[in-house]
Amino acid sequence: MTNNTTKPFDAKKERTVRVLLPLPLGDGYDYLVPPDLSIKIGNFVSVPLGKKESVGVVWAEGSGNVLASKLKPINSVFDLEPLPDVSRSFVDWVAGYTLTPPGSILKMVLGGQLRPLKDKDRVETALPDPDFAKRTFSPEQQDAVIQLVADVNAAAYGVSLLDGVTGSGKTEVYAEALAQCFRNGQQALVLLPEIAMTAALFQRLTDRFGVVPTLWHSELTEKQRRLNWHAIKQGKARFILGARSALFLPYQNLGLIIVDEEHEGAYKQEEGVIYHGRDMAVVRGHLGKIPVILASATPSLETLHNVQQGKYKHLILQSRFGKARMPHLELIDLRDEKMNAQTFISPPLLEALSKTITNGQQSMLFLNRRGYAPLTLCRACGNRLQCPSCTSWLIEHKRTGRLHCHQCGYSTPLPKVCPVCEAEDKFAACGPGIERIAEEVAACLPEARFAIMASDTMDGPKGAEALIQQMDDHKLDLLIGTQIMAKGYHFPRLTLVGVIDADLGLAGGDPRAAERTFQLLQQVAGRSGRAENPGTVYLQTTNPDHPVMKALIKGDRDAFMLAEMRERQTYHLPPFGRLAGLTVSGEDRAQVVQIAQMIAATAPQNDRIKILGPAPAPFAILRGKTRYRLTVQAARTVNVSAAITAWLSPLTIPRTIKVQIDIDPYSFL
Ligand SMILES: [Zn+2]
Ligand SMILES: [Zn+2]
Repeated sequence: MTNNTTKPFDAKKERTVRVLLPLPLGDGYDYLVPPDLSIKIGNFVSVPLGKKESVGVVWAEGSGNVLASKLKPINSVFDLEPLPDVSRSFVDWVAGYTLTPPGSILKMVLGGQLRPLKDKDRVETALPDPDFAKRTFSPEQQDAVIQLVADVNAAAYGVSLLDGVTGSGKTEVYAEALAQCFRNGQQALVLLPEIAMTAALFQRLTDRFGVVPTLWHSELTEKQRRLNWHAIKQGKARFILGARSALFLPYQNLGLIIVDEEHEGAYKQEEGVIYHGRDMAVVRGHLGKIPVILASATPSLETLHNVQQGKYKHLILQSRFGKARMPHLELIDLRDEKMNAQTFISPPLLEALSKTITNGQQSMLFLNRRGYAPLTLCRACGNRLQCPSCTSWLIEHKRTGRLHCHQCGYSTPLPKVCPVCEAEDKFAACGPGIERIAEEVAACLPEARFAIMASDTMDGPKGAEALIQQMDDHKLDLLIGTQIMAKGYHFPRLTLVGVIDADLGLAGGDPRAAERTFQLLQQVAGRSGRAENPGTVYLQTTNPDHPVMKALIKGDRDAFMLAEMRERQTYHLPPFGRLAGLTVSGEDRAQVVQIAQMIAATAPQNDRIKILGPAPAPFAILRGKTRYRLTVQAARTVNVSAAITAWLSPLTIPRTIKVQIDIDPYSFL
């Protein structure tokens, strides 16, 4: 920091500026510019805030709301280039759309605590070599490469959907767009939905460009964050790989954004600032006048709709690269199988697993449910063990020997005695979690070398990397895992995938449930037979006639999506209409209900906007707080954010009540 000043000056003649602080408060405060400071819009400054100091960004000329004589002067200016205009517009846009204070968005721009670099911290960032490890392409890939490279050179906004089955070489194709961006001297950002996925892609991109990409995600150390932030800010880091929050970093010269696995629900941030990473990437591309590439083997219905409307370009990679073929899918109708109530792997699947191991190949068993059993009940009285502070069953985990609440993190040892009827040792585990499947594998296939892959059994990205290595080295015959396993890993020996419960996820009041199940199962299927060996996927179901199962068996994504699109159109659901969720929560149930009803009573009601609720949320009690939900359903043409602002701002909401607004909700809990 420089230029400390204590000199008094004549406030009336002084320039004032509005400084935005990384705090959830209004849209900034006016400060005086001391005469000896040269201040530009976008400068990072230190200002007095109460008795403390805060970092902020000069957002605009002073608003003039407060008399200049009452304002405090800026303390100092950071020795940094001003925040680019596009970053400021992006903050304002996202704040307006998500109904979040702009300071909360600025906090993401600052990437946590902003501290100046020390000289010993300065790192030389190696630049990616665009011509390192060049690839040969199929004609189809070549066409896509030519278009994407042209888009990068055009330096204009545009969105392309890179749509190719798993193994069709999407990464290699978009890497050529990255290469062109680097040749043009610009920065490029590759977004991934989850940190656990970065390991595999990190290696492939490192191999392609001969340098390590600069990472941005929540598991970086404080020092690494600071170094990476400054490298990105200065434009020295050209090649950035990150989770959704990387979108907000203050790029000096961003030329391309790639959103990999664009269909992933994990792009939606559900806490703090609630936003959809993919949608905001498109906004950032638009504001920055740069191309955006959305890549997926199973594109979201929203994105396909934009393609249909001619808003997005569609680049299709049909065939799997090289020799690999699509796997063969087969349904196992569980109603026809004679199985003990405590077993979950059907005889045909068990036999296929055994054969695969004998043939020296690898398998995966997929169940999107962590822990041992989703429900524990007392056989004497039927009591189900429930979390004391949530509307949620407790889930037994053998690994910890405890019962866990997956909503709030509460855990307790499995009690010996039923808290209701006091019967001893009468608890029974109901249904399977992956730990229970692992137990069954150990009992039925004692020769199998297996491991469990789930977010709570692995030690972050490093743990995922270690498991992938063990699969690569053929030290494992079988991986048992949750949806985390459905992601872009490439195992040449993997020829069998078993889906324990293909029906899971179809139930519930979520308009995207069928789409998600279809995507997830198709991704899981895509894990199998990626090299020379053809793969087989077994789907265990009690619902073989469901449209999702039928579409999967036929491999007919387009038919499924078309049927799903008609359904959404009929019910005015996204992308044909707009949704927003309002969750009203608080400690006092009666007050929550009263406020929720008051909000509903003042709601705008016309033929373009409709309010459903209030109704108890599916998790009606979470962490001891009562939760009620209202759903706003509006026509496509309605500006929902503005409508909600106009509706809620005149209301007086007590401090003990929280109203959380979720524009374009993906979670309906
Ligand atoms: Zn009991
Ligand atoms: Zn809980």
